[in-house]
Amino acid sequence: MSISLLDLDLGGMAAFCEELGEKRFRATQLFRWIHQRGASDFDQMTDLAKSLREKLKGRAHVAPLPILQEHTSADGTVKWLFDVGGGNAVETVYIPEDDRGTLCISSQAGCAVGCRFCSTGHQGFSRNLTTGEIVAQLWFAEHQLRQRRGSDERVISNVVMMGMGEPLQNYSALVPALRTMLDDHAYGLSRRRVTVSTSGVVPMIDRLAQDCPVALAVSLHAPNDALRDGLVPLNRKYPLAELLGACERYLEHAPRDFITFEYCMLDGVNDQPEHARELIELVSGRAGAPRVPCKFNLIPFNPFPASGLRRSPPAVVSAFGKQLSDAGFVTTVRKTRGDDIDAACGQLAGDVRDRTRVDQRMAKLRTIPIRPVA
Ligand code: SF4
Repeated sequence: MSISLLDLDLGGMAAFCEELGEKRFRATQLFRWIHQRGASDFDQMTDLAKSLREKLKGRAHVAPLPILQEHTSADGTVKWLFDVGGGNAVETVYIPEDDRGTLCISSQAGCAVGCRFCSTGHQGFSRNLTTGEIVAQLWFAEHQLRQRRGSDERVISNVVMMGMGEPLQNYSALVPALRTMLDDHAYGLSRRRVTVSTSGVVPMIDRLAQDCPVALAVSLHAPNDALRDGLVPLNRKYPLAELLGACERYLEHAPRDFITFEYCMLDGVNDQPEHARELIELVSGRAGAPRVPCKFNLIPFNPFPASGLRRSPPAVVSAFGKQLSDAGFVTTVRKTRGDDIDAACGQLAGDVRDRTRVDQRMAKLRTIPIRPVA
């Protein structure tokens, strides 16, 4: 059986070389050819002995994900839809900015968490992506964009695991993919510039702190358990006090000294002054949960009909942000990028063959009241 080399981090590649009867250092050469130079044809790898290249042809491959669609927004944002087989497709988005190039990567075909405001969540869940399918998104985007620019200079400086899926529910595939992103023989990204975004899978936050600490973003979206239960169903399993406890522990190992809390602004639901006050109390350790040094990222909601939710007016978002800033918290409002190609946050929705009865889950979620008490 032919092995996909994109599935292997450097340790895995070294073990594979040993299996072939080759020295471990060959792994570094292979890694550089594939990840730094974008090679997929073993004949291109001219500093490998011909005998090794022949062996590799029989035992391994470097396969890109087939592209189903590509859209480029007026603001330069590029969105790809990749075919991952079985009727499933996942999205990857490149967001260029003056001082960085960010790639938003998917970790699952669909998502089983089913957040109320997320169009991926409404599509249901099909399967976890493999390490190779996660890495292939970066491999393709980096080398495709370099080719278009006619330059060998690195294009992608930041990766956010914020595409389709809950990355910490695909942990065993995620960690080798992160290691490849960070490896100096591959993409050499800084730990501070690779962000895992989670809706709060507490035990896996603790494991990530040990196995591969990178920047952490937590999808908070509500300042209390009653409201969060109706927006992020995972909250019923890991309520806020436990989640903030995991954040506090994570910071002992993290490359940054703060957690980013993502907060999707939903009109009349979680965007009122009392919510901001409660949020400040929560992260300051005055509500029974530990104090967590943090920044807030307020996200304008991207409405879709099945959600039954509306975007908060800009003035409400500004006032909410000001309340947090005045309390001493760095607060940003996420710029919506790629609006014209549905590439903004929460709009990523490939094709998912749901295996989880998403309609029933969503119907149940809608029975939880999410309106604030007047
Ligand atoms: S917000 Fe994230 S965790 Fe929630 S349903 Fe969407 S992809 Fe899944």
